[in-house]
Amino acid sequence: MVQPSNIHIENDFLLCVSCGESGVPIIAPAGAHLKASCAKCGKYIKFISQGGESMLYFGKYRGKTIAEVVKTDPAYLHWLLEQPGIKTKIKETIHKMLTPDGGV
Ligand SMILES: [Zn+2]
Repeated sequence: MVQPSNIHIENDFLLCVSCGESGVPIIAPAGAHLKASCAKCGKYIKFISQGGESMLYFGKYRGKTIAEVVKTDPAYLHWLLEQPGIKTKIKETIHKMLTPDGGV
């Protein structure tokens, strides 16, 4: 298992929804980004974006960067902002991407 030296994990721990394990996940490269899998049951947990590009790791645009979706389907991001259960940090990022001038 190759562990990239420059892993950037936003969460202190990652919770596996399959088995409930919260611990150090298995990190593997997935394209330009990283994929975290449960060390216990091996199930996919989340994508971890690298290089400053914020990526969606759920829903129909899973694996796409927010910047891409802003261009192709901004209505989806507006809808996402209204949904409960979306992490505040992600909402803040989406909001920033939708209003690059810091406007509103
Ligand atoms: Zn698990």
